[in-house]
Formats: sequence, structure tokens, C-alpha cells
Amino acid sequence: MDKEKLIKKLKKQGYLKSKKVVDAMIEVPREIFIPDEQKKYAYYDMPLEIGYGQTISAPHMVAIMLEALQLKENSKVLEIGTGTGYHAAMVAKISSKGHVYTIERIKELAEKAKKNFKKLGIKNVTVVTGDGSLGLPQYAPYTHIYATCSAPDVPPALIKQLSLNGRLLIPVGRVYGELILIEKNYRIKKKSLGGCAFVPMIGRGGYK
Ligand code: SAM
Repeated sequence: MDKEKLIKKLKKQGYLKSKKVVDAMIEVPREIFIPDEQKKYAYYDMPLEIGYGQTISAPHMVAIMLEALQLKENSKVLEIGTGTGYHAAMVAKISSKGHVYTIERIKELAEKAKKNFKKLGIKNVTVVTGDGSLGLPQYAPYTHIYATCSAPDVPPALIKQLSLNGRLLIPVGRVYGELILIEKNYRIKKKSLGGCAFVPMIGRGGYK
């Protein structure tokens, strides 16, 4: 499978819809974010191991989340769970006049992600090492927050760090959970976008 075929398949399946998300997927080379022994699978639609018991998300899941976030060119985004940086790199491309803050609890992965952003010349991303289960209050509020690890419930701290009219996307439930979308207006609107499987969010607002 090559990138062109994967994108065609994701469009046909209805996961890829908007030009900006398609362009980001075309622009960002997934193989950069994958260890050498796995690179041959870079354009298969599946999660792959990135070391430390963690994974790079499957392209269809990245597409679902990017479409649901409805990012703008100048969005200010928080990602919880950087991994090696694939998803954040695409967000950085879409929100090229905005900024992405991304937090990863495993130091080695955070370091890899920093190197990957540098390699690709991506400058609008700040990588923080630490527990992001209660968000990253020092840079809040964010127009968009999303987690790529699964929490026991939606941490209220994340809703607090979301700006008015902001969108929050978070998998909830251990291993097999539901992808929850929160829209913050004068009231909080919550809906499920369907089932999903993610590694657990480990930390104060996550699993112990
Ligand atoms: N965004 C990544 C990508 O594009 O491939 C996905 C990485 S993986 C599915 C989820 C990541 O969340 C793991 O690297 C894991 O270490 C991290 N993680 C788990 N709990 C966390 C927490 N409380 N704070 C920050 N990162 C966390």
C-alpha cells in the first residue's frame, strides 16, 4: 500500500472529507514517525508500535479526529499524547498560523517527536514532557483540545481549559471506548462519535 492508495481508500470509506485534511495527509510523511523495522507498513491503515508499549494511531482514526475537530488556520490546539508526533504534525500544517501544544508523559517519545518536527521544518509546535491528563493550564485557553489516549471519563480540567466555542475530542473507556466530542458554548454539548481503541491515559486525571 502506498500513500496515494491509502488516501483514495480513506476518501472512499468516508473518513477523509475536507481538502485541508487531505492536503495535510499528503504533506506529512508517516514513515518519519515510525521505527525502521515498521516503515514498510507506513501506509497500511493500522496502528503500529513506536516503542515503550505505545503506538502511532491508524490513519483512519487520525482522519476521523481531524475532520471532527474542524480546525482553523489560526487555531490554538492542545494535544494529549504526542507519541512520535504524527497527528500533531498534521494539526500544525492545518493550523499553520496557529500553534499546537502537545504533551507526552514518556520523555524518550517527546524527544523523538521534537526531532521529527525539526526534520520536517515544523515550527508551530511546542512539545512538553509530563502528565497531560489534567491538561496544560499554563498555555490555556485552547480553541481545540484532543487526546490520543483513552481516559476513564472526560476530565473537567480539560473543559475548563477550552475557550468558548471550543471543541474537545477524547476517547473514553479502557482499551475499547467511545470517542467523545464536547462542544463548549454557553452550555456543554456532549456526543459520541462511535467506538474506538486507544492506549490508556495514565495520570492524575486518567488511569493509575
Ligand atoms: N498522537 C500520537 C500519534 O500521532 O501517533 C499517538 C500516540 S499514542 C496512541 C498515545 C500517547 O499518549 C502515548 O505515547 C502515551 O505515552 C501518551 N500518554 C498516555 N497518558 C498520557 C498522559 N497522561 N499525558 C501525556 N501523554 C500520555
